[in-house]
Amino acid sequence: MKRVAVLSVHTSPLEQPGTGDAGGMNVYIVQTATRMARRGIEVEIFTRATSSELPPVAELAPGVKVRHVVAGPFEGLGKEELPGQLCAFTAGVLRAEARHEPGHYDVVHSHYWLSGQVGWLARERWAVPLVHTAHTLAKVKNANLASCDLPEPRMRLIGEEQVAAEADRLVANTEVEAEELIKLYDADPAKVMVVPPGVDLDRFTPGDRGAARSALGLRPDAVVLAFVGRIQPLKAPDVLVRAAAELLFHAPRLRDRLVVMIVGGPSGSGVKTPAELKRLAAELGIADVVRFLPPQGGEALAEVYRAADVVAVPSYNESFGLVALEAQACGTPVVAAAVGGLPVAVRDGVSGLLVEGHEAGPWARALESLVLHRAYREELAANAVGHARRFSWERTTDSLLAGYAQARDVFREEVFA
Ligand code: UDP
Repeated sequence: MKRVAVLSVHTSPLEQPGTGDAGGMNVYIVQTATRMARRGIEVEIFTRATSSELPPVAELAPGVKVRHVVAGPFEGLGKEELPGQLCAFTAGVLRAEARHEPGHYDVVHSHYWLSGQVGWLARERWAVPLVHTAHTLAKVKNANLASCDLPEPRMRLIGEEQVAAEADRLVANTEVEAEELIKLYDADPAKVMVVPPGVDLDRFTPGDRGAARSALGLRPDAVVLAFVGRIQPLKAPDVLVRAAAELLFHAPRLRDRLVVMIVGGPSGSGVKTPAELKRLAAELGIADVVRFLPPQGGEALAEVYRAADVVAVPSYNESFGLVALEAQACGTPVVAAAVGGLPVAVRDGVSGLLVEGHEAGPWARALESLVLHRAYREELAANAVGHARRFSWERTTDSLLAGYAQARDVFREEVFA
């Protein structure tokens, strides 16, 4: 394996995750691409140019290039408008490859269905296997929507079905997602491979909680509940705000010490902006308790996880939930919704707690059981670090490369049969 083309049409690996369309997929691509490059593989990531200032090619890390493909106006195009630009994007990708000798790439790996559509053509044109990671599946998402959320359009469902049929390998984060691909998308089981995502164990490490709190301007004795991620209905930060209000109703003595930290920026349709969450907190009489931080990167994000007593992941759907792993790697237990990949990311009763449904009552009880019982919280915190260490981007990269090699062998057999 010498060269890999990675397709990431709708969001760039150079963007800060935690707002807009940038999230776990961006982290996944950066982490696996840089690790492939360290093993001597050249990685080229194609993404849509969203500003005239962007150079045609940028270096993300040694051995990892980001190619900015011009497809439609630079600014002002929403994700829902991108299907109309797929032809232009594909033309840009094919032109870039045509400048090289034939057989430049060994494999094309597409992320999200929009890229899958582009990869489908690249596969045909370059005669290389297409490996596809969906990141989220519309049929699963639509079955688990928040009441205020908009369903994904039929166009996406059909597009995902086509990619599931055309790709040589489909990468699922968990066994559950593999089953969904097979049952809901009629994917050939032989093509589906389960590759758990990882966590950056160098960046996300346990640390001094007091120092982290002081860096964030929090009292040493604060009771800190954190939400980290894109602020959108599907991620349900409002569930944490409601649960915090309920928690204070049961334990009013926490009033002066409770802090709900919401870290991230607005995203998606029917946006749950910080302003809306502020309004909700005010209606519930806890406006003074809720604090907002813009998306954080690097060490600052690790400090947020370390400062928290509990990190909440109340999503309606989550194909995995990297935030849950990162928090645990920092020694913070997670209370998560029992949906999608979260039961894999969090070991119920061992490294955190899983909650069924999104009612404030059960969420408040789960949070209360951790914030009011220090010994229990510390036991889960210790287990959380061990659980997170079972995941690593090195292992994810190993599995992806094994999948690429298998896909290439099968592809060659088929082509030369
Ligand atoms: N993230 C970040 N800064 C923030 C909020 C989130 O870098 O302020 C990152 C976070 O570290 C995680 C990713 O965004 O790696 C979110 O991934 P996750 O799987 O939790 O959710 P997704 O965005 O894929 O739905």
